[in-house]
Amino acid sequence: MPRPIQAFIHTAALQHNLSCLRAATPDARVWAVVKANAYGHGIERVFEGLRGADGFAVLDLTEAERLRSLGWRGPILLLEGAFEPRDLEVCSRLQLWHTVHCEAQIDWLSRHKTQQPHRVFLKLNSGMNRLGFSPTRFRSAWARLDALPQVDEISLMTHFSDADSPRGIDHQRTCFHQLSADLPGERSLSNSAALLRHASAADVSADWVRPGIALYGGAPDYPEHDAAFWGLQPAMSLRSRLIGIQTLAAGDCVGYGSTYTAPGARTIGVVACGYADGYPRSAPTGTPVLVHGQRVPLVGRVSMDMLTVDLSDLLANGFAPGLGSEVTLWGRAFTGERLDVDEVAHRAGTIAYELLCALAPRVPVAVD
Ligand SMILES: *Cc1c(COP(=O)(O)O)cnc(C)c1O
Repeated sequence: MPRPIQAFIHTAALQHNLSCLRAATPDARVWAVVKANAYGHGIERVFEGLRGADGFAVLDLTEAERLRSLGWRGPILLLEGAFEPRDLEVCSRLQLWHTVHCEAQIDWLSRHKTQQPHRVFLKLNSGMNRLGFSPTRFRSAWARLDALPQVDEISLMTHFSDADSPRGIDHQRTCFHQLSADLPGERSLSNSAALLRHASAADVSADWVRPGIALYGGAPDYPEHDAAFWGLQPAMSLRSRLIGIQTLAAGDCVGYGSTYTAPGARTIGVVACGYADGYPRSAPTGTPVLVHGQRVPLVGRVSMDMLTVDLSDLLANGFAPGLGSEVTLWGRAFTGERLDVDEVAHRAGTIAYELLCALAPRVPVAVD
């Protein structure tokens, strides 16, 4: 028998989350962001759930190839554009739309031989200071692109650094507006946090929105709001089983480093899930885990292949966990109870994005 750990990708949850985001920005078209192998879910596994999107946004050319092999004929956007000149040949062959964020990419385009002009998204650096033309270079970049026979339509985009936090998006929206108001073309500004939190602000929906995490059921601004607040459902559940039970007396310790000492008699469950499966080693004692759909605390250190939970309260409440009992590390239990990946991530000092993307290749994944 294989190790009992397994991840599940919920097609219905992806469909639900997509329609939830559409409802938040009814006039915008939706790029489903499926970079990083669909935030760890697997592009092939989320395709059915997200094929109702208007387009897919990726980083890697191989991810674009995979979408075309799945039969997707609609728009695909490369969020970082070409990394070298020959990438443009793939863009021509697969009809990819691509971001242009620096002069070198315009140079490559100007030397590219193509029958069909490309659709490009010109990126403004409105304050994030990662990719994009600075406000002083943006308009001349637009003029350069506009003069190229290799370029068809020019769309305009920018990316917000603080859509999930108090600083907000207004300073960047203003910058974008000032530089682009009189330019033609479609606009794309918002990630999940911007479109959920700032949907009422002008420009935010624009022509295209670019949600990622919310499609997968993560709240972009946890713990200020949780996924239920936004009406989102978990698209991934990570489940395993108990493979050992230990009975502790007061003073006994658990796991590497003996970081947990039992204050009294305790029953400990050993779960077949560790950091080599993608569960964060940084999750401390007290991080919630579902056993039989009930919350129990993780105790002691997470090791490579196992983690330990305190079952004592569960036993006191009439449950009878034993070898083989179902455990949910995040997502939905078979019985329907829910533990948000945001909560686990927060306890571990990180964000849901990181945990979802880090699901280990050794974990078998099923689509349901
Ligand atoms: C990753 C990414 C997104 C999606 O962000 P979420 O916070 O996951 O919604 C949108 N736009 C760009 C440019 C990105 O790189």
